[in-house]
Amino acid sequence: MIEKRTAIRLSDGRELIYFDETPLHDRNEWPDTRELPPPPPTSQLRYDPLVDEWVAVAAHRQTRTFLPPSDKCPLCPSTPEFASEIPAPDYDVVTFENQFPSFSDRVKPDEITALTDLVPVRPGVGRCEVVCFTSDHNSYFGNLTPARVRTVVDVWADRTTEMSALPGVAQVFPFENRGVEIGVTLNHPHGQIYAYPTVTPRTQAMLRAASRHAEKTGGRNLYADVLAAEIKAGVRIISANEHWTAYVPAASRWPFEVQIAPNRHVLDIPALNDAERDAFGPLYLDILKRFDALFDKPMPYISAWHQAVTGEGRELGYLHLQLFSIRRAADKLKFLAGSESAMGSFINDVIPEKAAQTLRDII
Ligand SMILES: [Zn+2]
Repeated sequence: MIEKRTAIRLSDGRELIYFDETPLHDRNEWPDTRELPPPPPTSQLRYDPLVDEWVAVAAHRQTRTFLPPSDKCPLCPSTPEFASEIPAPDYDVVTFENQFPSFSDRVKPDEITALTDLVPVRPGVGRCEVVCFTSDHNSYFGNLTPARVRTVVDVWADRTTEMSALPGVAQVFPFENRGVEIGVTLNHPHGQIYAYPTVTPRTQAMLRAASRHAEKTGGRNLYADVLAAEIKAGVRIISANEHWTAYVPAASRWPFEVQIAPNRHVLDIPALNDAERDAFGPLYLDILKRFDALFDKPMPYISAWHQAVTGEGRELGYLHLQLFSIRRAADKLKFLAGSESAMGSFINDVIPEKAAQTLRDII
């Protein structure tokens, strides 16, 4: 749990927050000693009228740090020899604004221009943060204690509340990419949180489906009904506790995909109660162990929190975590090729019931 929260500014003005599990430290004793250039010009969003979607264009991201050696890791605590992104000599959990953000709250929200009559351009308003789960460079999320996972849940809740309240933010998305196979550019265990200025395409599709279902059923929540049906069917459930259920979706797109949802209808992470926050870690850590046991090596994965949007359609949401891997066999990765990338039509080589059974039996 968070015992102490200290927000500081890095030398270029970006915000960094220490979330301490003990109240011992005065984090203001450790100012950022680096001389950093101002944050880069922010990104823009361009509208693709053919599919009714916004695309973020952020050229400055090409220069971001790529797999630095461990003594130059920007997410490790600072040492006398190397000043990292985190000025203190140690930390529990830290969040800070990304140095190369796709979205930023430094731009004015009202500058909408147009490239053509059909292609409006808007500033990439929003915010991108990095979350460091531990100061231990060689650890990984699955190795955290349940108590630390609880702290991380509280941090996600804190950041969701604050970032949702920023002007122009439509949706807040905490996620973790793990493994170079996924495209991770820093090995230090960390996640990210995006605050988007628009509702993402995937969430828009989910809202359309949820809205249709509510109309058809006199206001029932679609995700709640899907979860209840999975619990009743049983065959794709991997594990559960009093507050959470983990299952493989019936129409899973990925070779190994698990969704973890609270048993109670909750809109977002801040709405989770104490007992639900405590109960998440043990179940999630168990699922991550099963993932790593599948091929007896660290499983590359994407772990993505789906939360209710901040505006219209908010009540249609249902908090859940979507965890999936692109590894389909010990030496094979699934790449998004023609059908998936060009058509958005997924072909899954692993039968979801078989994936669920494998994950159940693996440990
Ligand atoms: Zn590190």
